[in-house]
Amino acid sequence: MSEQFLDLLVIGGGSGGLACAQRAAEYGAKAAVIESHRLGGTCVNVGCVPKKVMWNAAQVAAALDDARDYGFDAGPGAHDWMALKGKRDGYVARLNAIYERNLAAKGIEYIRGRAGFADARVVAAGGRRFAARHVVIATGGSPVIPDLPGAEYGITSDGFFALDERPQRVAIVGSGYVACELAGAFRALGSEVELFIRKDRPLTHFDEMLGGALMREMRAAGMVVHQRVAPAAVRHDGGATTLIAVDGREFPGFDCLLWAVGRSPNVAGLDLERAGVGVDAAGFIETDALQDTNVAHIHAIGDVTGRAALTPVAIAAGRRLSDRLFGGRDGRHLDYRLIPTVVFTHPPIGTIGIGEAEARAIHGTDVKTYLSDFVGMYNAVTARKPRTEMKLVCVGPAERIAGCHIIGAGADEMLQGFAVAIRMGATKADFDDTVAIHPTSAEELVTMR
Ligand SMILES: Cc1cc2nc3c(=O)[nH]c(=O)nc-3n(C[C@H](O)[C@H](O)[C@H](O)COP(=O)(O)OP(=O)(O)OC[C@H]3O[C@@H](n4cnc5c(N)ncnc54)[C@H](O)[C@@H]3O)c2cc1C
Repeated sequence: MSEQFLDLLVIGGGSGGLACAQRAAEYGAKAAVIESHRLGGTCVNVGCVPKKVMWNAAQVAAALDDARDYGFDAGPGAHDWMALKGKRDGYVARLNAIYERNLAAKGIEYIRGRAGFADARVVAAGGRRFAARHVVIATGGSPVIPDLPGAEYGITSDGFFALDERPQRVAIVGSGYVACELAGAFRALGSEVELFIRKDRPLTHFDEMLGGALMREMRAAGMVVHQRVAPAAVRHDGGATTLIAVDGREFPGFDCLLWAVGRSPNVAGLDLERAGVGVDAAGFIETDALQDTNVAHIHAIGDVTGRAALTPVAIAAGRRLSDRLFGGRDGRHLDYRLIPTVVFTHPPIGTIGIGEAEARAIHGTDVKTYLSDFVGMYNAVTARKPRTEMKLVCVGPAERIAGCHIIGAGADEMLQGFAVAIRMGATKADFDDTVAIHPTSAEELVTMR
């Protein structure tokens, strides 16, 4: 069978792959995208988008909780999970269709099927064979189910989005952002939630203030957070699920157990060895600063590379790669430093740069931190009193801002603008010289002493 020849062949129609192909097509490249499931990938189908809809629902629940404190004759009522799921799934389906139309509008061929390398030059999918000047692997990742007895009784974040009803008692195992976000959504919509973490606090890769404050707010919202639990097995009997810890403790009576213990790269079936593409010990495709693999014309972007697994990162890496390969912009690549990110918990977290401990490890005593801890004005009149905490990590005599960490209402929308300033090298004095916007929580960031 002869091969169809292209300028660019992208494997994976998720955030990174679509962005890469579309940018290449804008430069006039003949591009195609191979996708085995639904266009849009993790973000659109089982990630950011449906997750944010659930977070929004949780925000509505919190507002209903506060309504009486603001004089409304209204309070929390019954919640119709399936009605929300129907609206959410409908929105996702509309996005799937928009992505397909966008490909057609840009003249990009959409190939349905699972791709695998025949050799370094040829990729097979959907019963056809393709060769290209450049091949980009953008196959993303999948949630890990641990290799433990009974683990199959648990679901993952993918299963969360498939739930047709809200479970009443939920165990969530994990301490990363997915675990914390889904715990918050379940709790706000009425489930009893127990979070099982291996260490003393969740979100251990962020500044420790964030994980500590989040744990306090989770407990204030009625969640149980079990620290230092290493799962050993799961038992399922009489319709209920029991989590068994390595130290023998048993946690019974759950009607849903959700694993949120990390993600692994989607490389199975790609037959990378036939192309000679190198992977690291965890299976992530190894790339250099330019997103090049060890094979000259094969590149990789997004979650499958194991670097900063976020949608805008995959998109930015994909677009920059096409700028370089097809737009004549030599050397263009993504700088992975100072990537802002938000954790959609309750309250949300916004964070950029290094935490205090990392700053001290790198810069020793040349580090100064500024802290703020308060109840935002919105909660001055409510029974609920979630706190807002902020930390600026400054380094050197000029007090350059190397980290900005916020937990509190509005943190999600607050951080983007500050991230621009911090990437431009803002110092504490620059923040102080900026006139505050009053009354907001954000103004604390420019008035810290
Ligand atoms: C629950 C959850 C919440 C998240 N929330 C956020 C958030 O709020 N903000 C944020 O920035 N990020 C978030 N993320 C992360 C974000 O979704 C990913 O970083 C992003 O989708 C990565 O894009 P990608 O292009 O690398 O891979 P993906 O979007 O996963 O796309 C990869 C695509 O490749 C396809 N594929 C795989 N193998 C093959 C093959 N052999 N042949 C053909 N096709 C194949 C897959 O079907 C998939 O569609 C979240 C993730 C999860 C799981």
